[in-house]
Amino acid sequence: MPENEQQFSSRNDSNSVSGSLYVVATPIGNLDDFTQRAIEVLQNVVLILAEDTRQTGKLLQHYSIKTQTRSYHQHNEAQLLDKYLAQIKAGDSIALVSDAGTPLISDPGFPLVRAAREQGLPVVPLPGACAVVAALSVAGLPVSRFCFEGFLPAKKAARLQQLQLLKNEIRTLVFYESTHRITATIEGMIEVFGQNRRAVIARELTKTFEQVQLDSLAALQTWLASSADHLKGEFVIIVDGAKEESPDQSRVSELLGLLLPHVGVKQAAQIAAEFSGGGRNQMYELALALKSES
Ligand code: SAM
Repeated sequence: MPENEQQFSSRNDSNSVSGSLYVVATPIGNLDDFTQRAIEVLQNVVLILAEDTRQTGKLLQHYSIKTQTRSYHQHNEAQLLDKYLAQIKAGDSIALVSDAGTPLISDPGFPLVRAAREQGLPVVPLPGACAVVAALSVAGLPVSRFCFEGFLPAKKAARLQQLQLLKNEIRTLVFYESTHRITATIEGMIEVFGQNRRAVIARELTKTFEQVQLDSLAALQTWLASSADHLKGEFVIIVDGAKEESPDQSRVSELLGLLLPHVGVKQAAQIAAEFSGGGRNQMYELALALKSES
């Protein structure tokens, strides 16, 4: 069989041949961001498991895909899992989609994929849109190493606690956020990471009002507040990692942290310069940054 041809087993095939579970990415806004292969797979599988059948219905209608859909989301996935695994084992191929983007990425599907793998069933990825990757690809912040954190907790105390755990992470941080909490989340980030930390707000990617804004957290807060439109839609927030400090630097930062509550920035910088043998200007900059973060 040529490499680009899919094998769709069915109940008519030998019982020893199972179907496959296809994990299919769908567009995150622009319906044209759908692959030819995804269209063919969705046309040929026996069933499409969809987070929201009405939402997926719009996509299927756009591409004239007539395959039947069933609702599959976080509230029913545990109870339906065995049924669909048995169906795949019996020879049917099934596709899993979410409302937008790549299934499992802050979306349902993990228990099904894990169980299918544990039972040795073929699980086939159909890559495509994913808001994390789309945002990182245009952010202008380092992407060679990053941490995807998904949604932060809804409650303020838990959100700040989670951010505290990430404060010294040197890799680029990526978060998902909704219109309801974007302001509170940026506020929390300023509180924990400091107002000068660089970050990106990527809003409504691939849609008509797409915006990607790179600035300090303080400037992004001002930008958000400057127009009601900036608060609408779906968001990816990317935050620059903490600056990696050499052991010497981290001792100097520790010393400055101890001094700053008691003496002025200039005096703290002078003491730190004498202690470390570093330049006064450099110590002054560091002291200023630490002061603004506190
Ligand atoms: N599975 C999806 C993916 O692959 O990106 C993510 C699903 S998650 C439930 C939805 C969140 O993804 C939104 O709240 C937002 O943070 C982000 N998102 C999805 N589409 C987006 C878009 N077009 N622009 C910016 N962020 C988006």
